[in-house]
Amino acid sequence: MYCIICYDEGVVIERTYMRNEEQYSILALSWQAQQTIYADLVERPQIEACGVLLGLQEYNESGESALRWHIENVVPLRNSANSPVFFEFDPAELLQVEMQHSEHIVGVYHSHPTGYARASSTDRQNMQRVNQEQQIPWCWLIVCGPFDSTFAQMVEQGALPGKRMIAYYHHPEPDGPGLAKLNVELSKRHGVK
Ligand SMILES: [Zn+2]
Repeated sequence: MYCIICYDEGVVIERTYMRNEEQYSILALSWQAQQTIYADLVERPQIEACGVLLGLQEYNESGESALRWHIENVVPLRNSANSPVFFEFDPAELLQVEMQHSEHIVGVYHSHPTGYARASSTDRQNMQRVNQEQQIPWCWLIVCGPFDSTFAQMVEQGALPGKRMIAYYHHPEPDGPGLAKLNVELSKRHGVK
């Protein structure tokens, strides 16, 4: 059982959940967040698009592990590596976003234009470093390409390519489950959870 303070329709309410942890690890993306990510991918299809995820986290009972992320919005950031296989935030730009949205940054997204459909070894190292060593409970969303005309068409028609999304979180406990995949939940349209 989890007692969680949760943000719903602009009001902070308390909820009690009876679920097991495995079923509970979810990254939920609002309609608005999806649209901003897709627009970003179509705009720079040849390089890794990247940015931060804004929203709220819920924790397990002990407060050690994050279990659910509600992503309300995203902020695309420059990929200063300008590479199809690597991304790097511009530190000054990231700092600016952190100052504007500090408590609301709950994760990072980036794209794999080559279509590589899982976390790279660099991704895994980053996740472990941030989630476990630095104890920052961010979630990690990867969208897999190619971001060609077919992809753009699917987005335009509202046929959201949810299968192209994979998400991760590295549990922070030293003897915990380690890197875990998250279920990605896509809101159908704005305001509907
Ligand atoms: Zn990656």
